[in-house]
Formats: sequence, C-alpha cells, structure tokens
Amino acid sequence: MVEAAQKQRIPAVEVVDLKKHFPVKKGLLRRTVGHVHAVDGVSFAIYEGETLGLVGESGCGKSTVGRLLLRLIEPSAGSIMVDGADVSRMSKAEMRPYRRQMQIIFQDPFSSLNPRMSAGDIVGEPLMVHGISRGKERAERVAALFERVGLRPAQMRNFPHEFSGGQRQRICIARALALGPKVIVGDEPVSALDVSIQAQVINLLMDLQRGSNLSYLFISHNLAVVEHISHRVAVMYLGRIVEVAEKKTIFTSPQHPYTEALLSAVPVPDPAIKREKRLVEGDVPSPVNRPSGCHFHTRCPYAIDRCKVEEPTLKPAAKSPETLVACHLR
Ligand code: SF4
Repeated sequence: MVEAAQKQRIPAVEVVDLKKHFPVKKGLLRRTVGHVHAVDGVSFAIYEGETLGLVGESGCGKSTVGRLLLRLIEPSAGSIMVDGADVSRMSKAEMRPYRRQMQIIFQDPFSSLNPRMSAGDIVGEPLMVHGISRGKERAERVAALFERVGLRPAQMRNFPHEFSGGQRQRICIARALALGPKVIVGDEPVSALDVSIQAQVINLLMDLQRGSNLSYLFISHNLAVVEHISHRVAVMYLGRIVEVAEKKTIFTSPQHPYTEALLSAVPVPDPAIKREKRLVEGDVPSPVNRPSGCHFHTRCPYAIDRCKVEEPTLKPAAKSPETLVACHLR
C-alpha cells in the first residue's frame, strides 16, 4: 500500500513558495531596518509514506521550514496544502483538525518534556486536548503507544528525569504519534543523543513508518543519518532549496556545487575509497545581506559573471534530469 502511494506519489503535504522574513529592528523607536530572509521561496511536497531529508549548514533556514509547516511561526508568504486545503492562513479554530495531522519532534528531548508531568500524562496530553478519549480508554491508548515506541506501560508513572536520553526521545515520539498524524517533522531529532542511541531511535522511526502512510520531514545536518533514513533529500542554502533528488541520486551524483561540497566532507567508512574533497571556503553569508544573483557565488569554485547578477531557479539538471538543481552551469 505504501509502495503504491509512493508510486502514485500522493502528497501528504505540499508547500508552495513559502517565505519567512523576520524584521530586524533598531534604535529607540525600534524601526525596521532590514529583514532576515530565513526562508525565501521554498517549494516541495512530502508524499505519503515518504521521508524527505532536509539538510544544510546551521542558519540555512531548515528548522524554520519545519516550524512553518506546523505554523508554530507564521509564514510571510506562500501556501501549505494539506488535504487540498491551504492551512497557511487558517484561524486557530479552522486549523484544529489539521493540527492533528502534523506533529513535531524536537532536538532536545529533555527540554521539550514538562518535568512536572508523568510520562503517561505527557503522552496522553494531546488526546485530552483534542477530547479524543478519557479515563481508562485514554490510559489504554497511552499504554499501547508506550509499547509501540519500545517503552514499558509500567513506565507511564515515571517522570522525565527518570528516563535516559534515548527513552525521553521515545516519549516525544509516542506523544507525536498519539493523534495518528500523517506527517511528523523531526527537527534534528537524534542530534542530542549518544551515537549508539541515535541508531535505535532512527530504526524506531523507520519501523513506525513501515506498513503505514506516515511521512517524515527529517531535518538534520548529519548527512550519514539523512542518507540512512530518507527516500529523497532536499539541500538548503541561505533560505532556498538548491537541489532535490532521490537519496541514491543525490549521494552518488550530486549536481549543485554546494551539495558536492557538503557530501565531500562526509567520511567514507571504507579506507579503500577516497572521496575527492571539494571544500567551500568562508562562512555562510548573513541572511540579512545576501549576495546578489546566486547566493552561493561568494563561495562557489565554479562561479562565473552571470552568477553574480542572475538568480538561478530550480530546474531539471542537464546530466541528471530527475534531479532539480538551482545552478546556471548544471
Ligand atoms: Fe556556482 Fe554559479 Fe552554480 Fe551558483 S549558479 S552554484 S555560483 S556555478
């Protein structure tokens, strides 16, 4: 069923030209003197049963995209389509049924759990807020969620500080699953965990997806983890998507010079294989004063004069048409 959905590519959520510009205020009168272009015209779809990996250096806007998707922050422009409806401008009340369909797991499982609530109450809270079940029925649902994420129902009485980091992230996953969402945004969900625990949590997320239509937007700077969990990967640079492709295509044949550089920095676990290093120089420019034309031109080893004045759009790559790339030369 999932394979059929992926073949037919039914979008669980579709984002069109999404923008988030934060005002920069200065002076006594707090006048707006500029804007941080955190997300600047991003379009993508996440299909049913699919994991879309979203990668890029810190500050590129990937976490902002995740928060915009759930409307934890309000978009400046663009649309977010869920079940054929644009949820980007809906009121809180209109948004309520759609809220159930999209959940988020944050990076730090400790700070995202209320230390005064038992683990069972934390996982059951979304059910209570949405009036889905009560009393014994709710307790049974929560117990089932605990088992689903590899925790014992007896642990429902324990408090967050009584769990390990990996177990706390399992609680967060159980809470995210409570309302039966279509899409879960994982914002660096394993970055704060020990490496040995990261694999367990990643495998749990993959197990939960198997045989269901659950979709993930998996935001991470760790390309090895993204390669393991994703079906497709989107690469962001300074608020824009610069390349999107199937995981295998992007990891074996990256088209954008920035993707090339990101991938060349990933260690290969086989000493016989040497990957050519294509390191980009310099820091990511300020999202307030972005370079003209292609925002990557100040760091790109292939930049030509055209790159300084003309902004490239996402289009099929000449050598790999299934890849969408924003580069004048590819
Ligand atoms: Fe480099 Fe120009 Fe391509 Fe931008 S458009 S990535 S500067 S070659």
